[in-house]
Amino acid sequence: MTGSTKYIFVTGGVTSSLGKGIISASLAKLLQARGFTVTIQKLDPYINVDPGTLNPYEHGECFVTDDGAETDLDLGHYERFLDIPTSQANNVTTGRIYQNVIRKEREGAYLGKTVQVIPHITDEIKRHIQALGRKGIYDFVITEVGGTVGDIESLPYVEAIRQLRWEKGRDCLVIHLTLLPFLGTTGELKTKPTQHSVKELLSLGVQPDVLVCRTEHAMGPGLKDKIALFCNVDAKAVVESRDAETIYDVPLLMQEEGLDEVVLEKLGIQGSPVADLDQWKDFLRRYKNPEGEVRICLVGKYVELKDAYKSIKEALEHAGAENETRVQIKWVHSEKLTPRNVQKQLGGAQGILVAPGFGHRGIDGKIEAIHFAREQGIPFLGICLGMQCAVIEFGRNVLGLSAANSTEMDADAKDPVIDIMEAQKSVVDKGGTMRLGAYPCALTEGSIARRVYGRKQVNERHRHRYEFNNAYLERYHQGGMVASGVNPKSKLVEIVELKDHPWFVGVQFHPEYRSTVASPHPLFVAFVKAASSHGTGVQAGIEGKVKAEN
Ligand code: GLN
Repeated sequence: MTGSTKYIFVTGGVTSSLGKGIISASLAKLLQARGFTVTIQKLDPYINVDPGTLNPYEHGECFVTDDGAETDLDLGHYERFLDIPTSQANNVTTGRIYQNVIRKEREGAYLGKTVQVIPHITDEIKRHIQALGRKGIYDFVITEVGGTVGDIESLPYVEAIRQLRWEKGRDCLVIHLTLLPFLGTTGELKTKPTQHSVKELLSLGVQPDVLVCRTEHAMGPGLKDKIALFCNVDAKAVVESRDAETIYDVPLLMQEEGLDEVVLEKLGIQGSPVADLDQWKDFLRRYKNPEGEVRICLVGKYVELKDAYKSIKEALEHAGAENETRVQIKWVHSEKLTPRNVQKQLGGAQGILVAPGFGHRGIDGKIEAIHFAREQGIPFLGICLGMQCAVIEFGRNVLGLSAANSTEMDADAKDPVIDIMEAQKSVVDKGGTMRLGAYPCALTEGSIARRVYGRKQVNERHRHRYEFNNAYLERYHQGGMVASGVNPKSKLVEIVELKDHPWFVGVQFHPEYRSTVASPHPLFVAFVKAASSHGTGVQAGIEGKVKAEN
C-alpha cells in the first residue's frame, strides 16, 4: 500500500476477557490475507515493567519473543495468526512508559519542565505506538489497549488515542469491543451496557468508528440499527461476534461480518482484493475433521489455569491438525502425581509432555511422570524445566546419582546435574535478567532432533537461568542420554535424547513460542506423530478435546 501507515486501535468495554486479542489478530489476519503488511501491538495498563515477574496465576503465560522480550500472552496469538515474529516494541506496559519518562527526567531531558501525565506520559505512549509505524514496513499498526474503558489505569492510553486521532485524521480508526449480555428470563440480548460503554469512551473524547459486539446468540433484526442509533456509528459498522467453536474460526466469522471491509472503507482504502484465506481454511478443515485421535498427558503445576500453558496447548493443536488427528489433552497436576497413582494418572497416555516452570513445587511429580515415560517407552517431550527434570531423573535412576538435582531446588546438591549458568551467578534483579530470546542450536547428525528439523542448526527461544551441567556430559553420554543439540558458541546443552527409547526429547528452549497455524512446530508435529503411533494402552479418562478459550 502506498501512503502513510494506518493506526487501528482496539479498546474494550463492559467487561474484561472479551477477546480483544483474538479480534485484533483476526482483523490483522484478514488485512494480511488481502496483501497488506500488518503488525499488532499490546498496551498493558499495569505498573510491572513487563509480565516476566508475574505469577502465571495472575496473568497466564509469559510469551517470549526472538529479541528476548517477556510479553503478554496475546503476542502469542498475534504470531500464531500472522506467522510473523513480534518483538519488544509490540508490548508496552505502563511500568515501561513511566520508567522511560522518569529516566529522561533524571537525564534532564525535560529542560526544567514539570513532568506530567499530559503531555509527557501521553507523548511517551504515542511514541511507542508510532515507533512500529515509523519502521516504514507496515501498512497497518493495530494497537490493542488492555483493560476496560473506564479503568483508572487505562485513562492515559485513551487520551493518547484521542490525541493521535486528532493528529492523524483519517489514518486512524477506533474499534470498540463490547458485550451484549443475554437475559435468559426474557430471552433478550441487552444493548444498554454497550451504550454506556460508548458513552464512557465519548466522555473521554473518543468516538468509536466500529463496534464489535460479543454475544452468545445471533443479534436479531433491528439490533444493529438500534446500537448504531444510540452510539453514532453506521449500522454496517456494528459487527456481531458470536461465540466460536475455536478461536481459529474468528477470522472467517469476521470476514462474513465484513469487519475488514468496513475498516478499509472507513480508512479510505479502495480496490484491495478479497482476503485469500485458503491456507487458513485448509488448516481448519484438518483441525475439525481428524482421522484419529491421540491422548497426550500434559504434566504441570498450573494445570487448573490453562492460560498458563497457552502456547503449548496451541502448539499441540497445530501439530494435531498437521497430523490430521485430534489431540486430547489430559491436564495432570504435577503436585498430585505420586509413585502410587502414576499408573492410574498416566496409564493410557500415548504421549507425555512435562511443562516448564520455576521453583520446587510439583517437581517430584514431574520426575515421576518422566520416570514412567522413560520406562514404559511412551513418547516424551520435556520443555525447559521438563527437560531439566528428565536430566535429574536419568541421573538418579539410571546413572545411580541418587543426589542428582538442580541447584534451583537444592543449592548444595551433591550432584548438581543442572546448575545455575555462569552468567547468572552475579544477577541480583529478577526482572528481565534470565537467558532470554533466540539462541542458535547446532543439531547432532543422526539424532531425532536433526531428523525432525531437517536442518543442521536452528534458533529457538529461551527463558531460564539454569542449564545442563557439562561436567556430567560424558557420564550421561555413556549411560545413554545424549546431547543432540548444543549452542555452537557457549556449548550449553539445548536438547537431550535417550538412545534406547522410541521418542524421548528434552529441550532447554521453548519450541511452543514458535508454532503457528501456517508453520506448526516440527518438534510438536513429530511428538504428536510419535504419540499417535504409540500402542493404544488403557484409557486414562482423558477429557474431551479442549474447548478453545475465546
Ligand atoms: N526454572 C528453570 C530455570 O530457570 C526452568 C525455567 C523454565 O522452565 N522456563 O532454568
